[in-house]
Amino acid sequence: MTDQTSHFDIVIIGSGPAAFTAAIYTARGGVPTALFGGVAPGGQLLQTMEIENFPGFPEPVAGADLMQNMLKQAARLGTRVFSEEIAAVDFTRHPFSLTAGGGGAYTAGAVIIATGAQARWLGLPSERKFVGKGVSGCATCDGFFFRGRPVCVVGGGDSAAEDALFLTKFASKVYMVHRRDELRAIFRLREKLKANPKIEIIYGHVLEEITGDAKVTGVNLRNVKTGEARHIEVPGVFIAIGHDPATQLFRDKLNLDDEGYIVADCFTATSVYGVFAAGDVMDPHYKQAVVAAGNGCKAAMEALGYLEEIKA
Ligand SMILES: Cc1cc2nc3c(=O)[nH]c(=O)nc-3n(C[C@H](O)[C@H](O)[C@H](O)COP(=O)(O)OP(=O)(O)OC[C@H]3O[C@@H](n4cnc5c(N)ncnc54)[C@H](O)[C@@H]3O)c2cc1C
Repeated sequence: MTDQTSHFDIVIIGSGPAAFTAAIYTARGGVPTALFGGVAPGGQLLQTMEIENFPGFPEPVAGADLMQNMLKQAARLGTRVFSEEIAAVDFTRHPFSLTAGGGGAYTAGAVIIATGAQARWLGLPSERKFVGKGVSGCATCDGFFFRGRPVCVVGGGDSAAEDALFLTKFASKVYMVHRRDELRAIFRLREKLKANPKIEIIYGHVLEEITGDAKVTGVNLRNVKTGEARHIEVPGVFIAIGHDPATQLFRDKLNLDDEGYIVADCFTATSVYGVFAAGDVMDPHYKQAVVAAGNGCKAAMEALGYLEEIKA
């Protein structure tokens, strides 16, 4: 058996809304809980200045403030929060073994994985400069801010098509910029895009630069065949080229789907009994903080139930 100090009944990996909600429930359930969240805990919401759709905040709340409050709440209830990442896991034996980035070894009766996903970006310096100032990776989150104004969506797959259609509810016009001559989105979505008078698809173009001063004012595009340049004036740019779930650590250890998301059932159970997953790391569809938090709650309740079950 392992050293007492390195064993926790529940270890949570991650530090977004899913991880902290799970920790609030497990620590409040009286179960020794450790949360490993990396050096900059808080997850994707740290990238956004204003959140208007997380319940409980009548005024917009900054992502950093919301996440700091979640951390404090989890810590106040007794969660040991480690500012380290988990670098290796072994789920083949129980208790499960985990190694932190600094080399510390830990064991856990149950593990909750809430490592999230990263929106893919184009990698342009101007894109980085304007994230939160007109550039967004989340139409559901930020579309509302562009009511009555034109926006640009970059991408040609299902998520780009869904984002473009969603944005027509707010924007006066939606330019969809795609580098190929045809979209990768499924037929049903392509037909919807065609039928929507607010959408203009600009095929065969890449986004070269986002222009602006303090905020975005437009985009510079280039035709991939002719090299011709085009400028469009838009205050909002939505990058919709996919997400990368943070599951490198779990390859060959848990069932992952084709895109690398952890396969978990509606009770957050993964392919290993006693290992649960919550939030964007197992949710290719919703990608919303409140959904991640809800899943974190489910994972915590399932993990508590599992610990009871194996003790009996
Ligand atoms: C720019 C932007 C704006 C958004 N705005 C909104 C909004 O207004 N409203 C809304 O509901 N949603 C919004 N979202 C989506 C929302 O942020 C996500 O749905 C939510 O954060 C997912 O939470 P999560 O807990 O699953 O993981 P994440 O927030 O992705 O957090 C996971 C954390 O785990 C850490 N981690 C990864 N691997 C390890 C490891 N091995 N060890 C330890 N830690 C690890 C990561 O570093 C990260 O900090 C936005 C997203 C972006 C990118």
